[in-house]
Amino acid sequence: MSWQREPRANGVAKILITEQELQRRIYELGKELDGHFGDRVPLFVGVLNGAVAFMTDLMRAMTIPVEIDFMATSSYGNSTTSSGVVRIIKDLNQPIDGRHLMVVEDIVDSGLTLRYLLEMLEARNPASITVVALLRKNKPDAVDVQVDFIGFDIPDEFVIGYGLDFAERYRNLPYVAVLDPSTIVDE
Ligand code: 5GP
Repeated sequence: MSWQREPRANGVAKILITEQELQRRIYELGKELDGHFGDRVPLFVGVLNGAVAFMTDLMRAMTIPVEIDFMATSSYGNSTTSSGVVRIIKDLNQPIDGRHLMVVEDIVDSGLTLRYLLEMLEARNPASITVVALLRKNKPDAVDVQVDFIGFDIPDEFVIGYGLDFAERYRNLPYVAVLDPSTIVDE
């Protein structure tokens, strides 16, 4: 695999974060998280589907033992703006009381999804919750929500790639890109 591999897919207006930039930052985050957890064995809680690419790279950037599980929440469907409605579609496979959770999110936009998720997880009495988000949008009206580690702060634009979709597509792009607005009209 080559760092140069960044063909521009249809629907991509501009590449915001290259594959190389992503991998470099995720490597750094992995080292920070190794230090953060120390002797504790975190249970990674991945939020499907968007966090899959990030989570699999992040856990491989770490050297301490980790365990993983997944949840799925409702997405925006084919729209590009938040409905504010959050629904659990798939729950965790195991109880989490007494566990040190590492919540792995793809992107914090309005913050509503994460806030809801954290309230729900807190009610199950984990020993601790740490939150890492690959991306955080620069949004003054976002709700105040716990995010302990952030990959990149980005402008308030609809992004795709590296796990993030538009109408379930583009998740496989190895970079983060801005969606071409004409794609939205076409769908
Ligand atoms: P929030 O609840 O913070 O507004 O949004 C969180 C969820 O909305 C994310 O986990 C992601 O699934 C989706 N989302 C928010 N912004 C974007 C974006 O720019 N692109 C994509 N593909 N999904 C987004």
